[in-house]
Amino acid sequence: MSKVLVVTGSSRGIGAAIALLGAKEGYAVAVNYRSDREAAEALVRDIAGQGGRVVAICADVSTSAGAEKLFSEVDQALGPVSALVNNAGISGGKSPITEIDEDRLRRIFETNVFSAFYCSREAVKRMRGTGGGGSIVNVSSAAARHGGMPELAHYASTKAALDGMTIALAKELGQLGIRVNSLRPGVIVTDMHDEFGGAKLIESIAPTIPMGRPGTANEVAEAVLWLASERSSYVHGAVIDISGGR
Ligand code: NAP
Repeated sequence: MSKVLVVTGSSRGIGAAIALLGAKEGYAVAVNYRSDREAAEALVRDIAGQGGRVVAICADVSTSAGAEKLFSEVDQALGPVSALVNNAGISGGKSPITEIDEDRLRRIFETNVFSAFYCSREAVKRMRGTGGGGSIVNVSSAAARHGGMPELAHYASTKAALDGMTIALAKELGQLGIRVNSLRPGVIVTDMHDEFGGAKLIESIAPTIPMGRPGTANEVAEAVLWLASERSSYVHGAVIDISGGR
């Protein structure tokens, strides 16, 4: 029986790269998405075409009911989860602090933080049930450390919350053989930057990155799969930068 990998928000970008690499490494993969069914199904065809076991599941993980739906469909299609990647996230769009409102804050905290709580809750119930332990990887951001772009304090705050959750859950779950870690990507080439100028924005930030270039979704996926696997068996409660030195 292959191990089961659940990647939230994996219809594109970093999540899609994690799903693809996970399948290559032998996981049965659950591709989760909220709205972009076409992209999720294209990814599923791609993975299945390479011989992987994969399913696409539409679920809004920013809600408790959405996370429950995701995991019960994973149970039925693939079996109990062994590795969870809390990847779904949004920028929330720019807003100066004087304009910040309840709707924006609620939406970003529900998507970036609450989702990780809901999905970890569902995953831990199953990992504990099988007695086989497991691994949870939270996709945070270097913004948690350096504050990120101007007028995105709400985004940086959600990622700092995720890192706090990682450290606390590591204490709670270590004895159960469930490892929990955070990865903090820096600037990674994905559609997420489109609303801020896309390639132009990335080009303007590149000189401030010690490695002189943005990262790729695949480079993040490599680190996630390492953290998900036994190859990182003593890495626990860690918050790891993957940011080209920035
Ligand atoms: P992206 O290209 O915008 O993709 C986001 C993914 O999340 C999409 O598949 C989207 O699916 C899904 N999603 C959003 N809300 C969801 C919800 N409520 N339920 C289920 N799925 C949801 O973003 P990305 O750049 O790959 O970013 C992935 C993660 O890395 C995020 O947590 C982000 O904060 C983090 N990160 C990114 C960078 C970067 O430079 N790109 C840097 C640091 C950290 P639908 O389209 O179907 O809604």
